[in-house]
Amino acid sequence: MDATKCHLDIRDAISKLCSQFDSSYWQTCDRENKYPKAFVTALTKGGFLSALIPKKYGGSGLSLSAGAAILEEIHKSGGNAGACHAQMYTMGTILRHGSEEQKSKYLPKIASGELRLQAFGVTEPSSGSDTSSLNTTAKFDGKNYIVNGQKVWTSRAEHSDLLLLLARTRPITEVKKRTEGLSVFLVDMRELVGKSLTIKPIKTMMNHSTTELFFENMPVAPENMIGDIDSGFRYILSGMNAERILIAAECIGDAKWFINKAQKYAKERIVFDRPIGQNQGVQFPIAKAYSKMRAAELMLRQAVNLFDQGKNPGEEANLAKLLCSEASWNAAETCMQTFGGFGFAEEYDVERKYREARLYQVAPVSTNLILSYLAEHVLDLPRSY
Ligand SMILES: Cc1cc2nc3c(=O)[nH]c(=O)nc-3n(C[C@H](O)[C@H](O)[C@H](O)COP(=O)(O)OP(=O)(O)OC[C@H]3O[C@@H](n4cnc5c(N)ncnc54)[C@H](O)[C@@H]3O)c2cc1C
Repeated sequence: MDATKCHLDIRDAISKLCSQFDSSYWQTCDRENKYPKAFVTALTKGGFLSALIPKKYGGSGLSLSAGAAILEEIHKSGGNAGACHAQMYTMGTILRHGSEEQKSKYLPKIASGELRLQAFGVTEPSSGSDTSSLNTTAKFDGKNYIVNGQKVWTSRAEHSDLLLLLARTRPITEVKKRTEGLSVFLVDMRELVGKSLTIKPIKTMMNHSTTELFFENMPVAPENMIGDIDSGFRYILSGMNAERILIAAECIGDAKWFINKAQKYAKERIVFDRPIGQNQGVQFPIAKAYSKMRAAELMLRQAVNLFDQGKNPGEEANLAKLLCSEASWNAAETCMQTFGGFGFAEEYDVERKYREARLYQVAPVSTNLILSYLAEHVLDLPRSY
């Protein structure tokens, strides 16, 4: 089915909600590095951030395709879901691997907005993409796990109550594989910030509320460990297909925004007594960006369908993330070039969206790491690292 024809009611509702948050809203947030709180509150109130939480825990119990439609429409409207998208996929770790007690305690409050689960602490300054070599430790002292170490790029930590944290519970020297000995914790940061947890914002080229976290003897109760001890890497991996698919949907939304913007401008802007879009040198790149977006969208649709059928579409999720992030960046370049000098002016939103779209070839996973996955796991080429 044409991707744009699925979840029409949701797309329509998101489009209406986003129309309340216009260019000047996003420009102000961007200029002042402000968290788009009113937008996130509206999404939460509308039940959109809890779309994937099962009904029995207070959510809407919708499929990943609904989540993808929500995020795509936000980006297509000119907004940015980066302020809150993590809630959709980090929640899955609790849902799949948490105990019944943890699910009943946290998911209804996350669904209602009473608790915000926006922060996901995996990346560290020294380990980067090599997650299994992370250095943050959690050692049991007989009562609590005591966490020491540092995370980097933990986005939205200042705007979240809960943090999903990956830390080493068994030293690397005591495990057969480096991926063993890591555990996942659901940390309630509210009582810890300013004491054993320090949050330091990182200023970036776009407004993303990202931070560094420093843990100094931070206590976490054993009941806040998700699943089995030392098995956390597997739990984080199991959420990656959903994360890649949802990010790919945002990229498709961005690509559509850029193409739409370029298309309109190319028809309106008159230079040398004719619309610039009459020149094939201007219209062909837009047509090319459109064709790349449509092809990437098909891969996204296939990944979403397989996921919703309960399959484990590693190949398709990675392909979708790769192709959609490339399609959005190509559309961004095309839009910027179509606008000429005006593309650099804040009021047209192109430069803001351009800065925002660039992220997705680096995070949440870089293009090289996706290519490496495809080479090794799909094409059976020798492992490179
Ligand atoms: C704005 C922003 C928000 C983020 N939010 C979060 C978050 O909320 N939570 C979180 O845990 N992380 C977050 N991240 C981190 C993000 O996931 C990492 O930046 C990303 O995984 C890449 O890791 P790195 O930056 O350490 O790059 P590195 O691992 O240092 O890699 C640098 C470059 O080298 C390439 N490279 C490295 N190794 C290889 C190899 N073996 N073969 C080929 N190429 C290689 C990479 O592809 C990359 O281009 C965020 C990052 C940014 C910039």
